[in-house]
Amino acid sequence: MSWVPGAEDESGFGVAHLPYGVVRVGGQPRPAVRIGDRALDLAAAESAGLVEAGGAFRGGTSLDRFLAAGPAVWQATRERLTELLTDPGAEPRVQPMLHPLGDPVLPFTVADYVDFYSSEQHARNVGQIFRPGRPPLLPNWKHLPVGYHGRAGTVVVSGTPVVRPCGQRRPGGSETPVYGPSTRLDIEAEVGFVVGVPSRPGTPVGVDRFAEHVFGVVLVNDWSARDLQAWEYQPLGPFLGKSFATSVGAWITPLAALAGAWRPLPAQDPPVLEYLREPEHRGLDLALTVHWNGTQVSAPPFAGMYWTPAQQLAHLTGNGAALRTGDLYASGTVSGAQRGQVGSFLELTWGGAEPVRLADGTERTFLLDGDSVTIGATAPAVGGGRLTLAEVSGTIRPASGTAAVPASGC
Ligand code: MN
Repeated sequence: MSWVPGAEDESGFGVAHLPYGVVRVGGQPRPAVRIGDRALDLAAAESAGLVEAGGAFRGGTSLDRFLAAGPAVWQATRERLTELLTDPGAEPRVQPMLHPLGDPVLPFTVADYVDFYSSEQHARNVGQIFRPGRPPLLPNWKHLPVGYHGRAGTVVVSGTPVVRPCGQRRPGGSETPVYGPSTRLDIEAEVGFVVGVPSRPGTPVGVDRFAEHVFGVVLVNDWSARDLQAWEYQPLGPFLGKSFATSVGAWITPLAALAGAWRPLPAQDPPVLEYLREPEHRGLDLALTVHWNGTQVSAPPFAGMYWTPAQQLAHLTGNGAALRTGDLYASGTVSGAQRGQVGSFLELTWGGAEPVRLADGTERTFLLDGDSVTIGATAPAVGGGRLTLAEVSGTIRPASGTAAVPASGC
């Protein structure tokens, strides 16, 4: 139990959690750990000798150096912070370093960004909607975690407005495309994994090395323009329909806080190749929620994903591609078997054919300008209770045109 007011275990941000992020102190970004609705300035704490992380925090403006420091430093820091935040004797020295959370700040430099497609239910739903009458799963799907490289430079922190993208789409029934604002703007509720420790070029990272490289978890909204995507994606996969923005939560939940959230998964059939075979085939039991303008429209279960984060890591390095500190890879849309468990509006409205009604009585198929979406999640905490993962939210701004092409016809 922490001495920090409001940091009870029931808050979801008690000492069993301790997610890392960045807080502004006097306008300057500082690496921080969250406790309740406060953030402890770790740059100040290390400078004062309260925390020793090999200089990972001292003078720092992000989590980059801490991410690179590796599991021994991560664990020692977590133990020390737990001590400081539970021992009432430490309060006089620590209390002055606690600050309000303030506006979200992107807590690390995103290196490369990869997005997977690891929910079988989502892949089947999208297959049926995009390729009706054909087998929903393509032949490779159960042999490898399908993925693509996204655009790291447009990963933004929760709260950042998302401008409706313009692009090429082919209106229904038309042979020729038009260029203009997307009319089928969607979300994808996902779970992202943040890489801390790099790997050597040419050396795959095995399924058993996951915890040596991956630091923690953030919620992800992989905003998707379905009309742009449907026209552009064959044969090379997603491109401009997704690269305009990807939102992440502001606080990274360390894997250590999720030690009690792993659940065994059913054996994969057909059996996977050796490099994807795990000592323990297990997934994280995160319970997601999706709110659309404040109305909860879905509750996707992460526990049922077909491919695990360890398998995704082994696959994305299976060709020897090196990891860098700050690499982010996301699970793919999290969808369960029920309509109320899907992680995209494409599925929720079945391609736009079945609108959903929000609490204010209005109906939606895809996102309108001004709409807000918030993805949240909880997970079992070590020793009982639940953690609350930092939410990821965003509001849609109207498309902005250029001098040559005004917004109305951009
Ligand atoms: Mn995605």
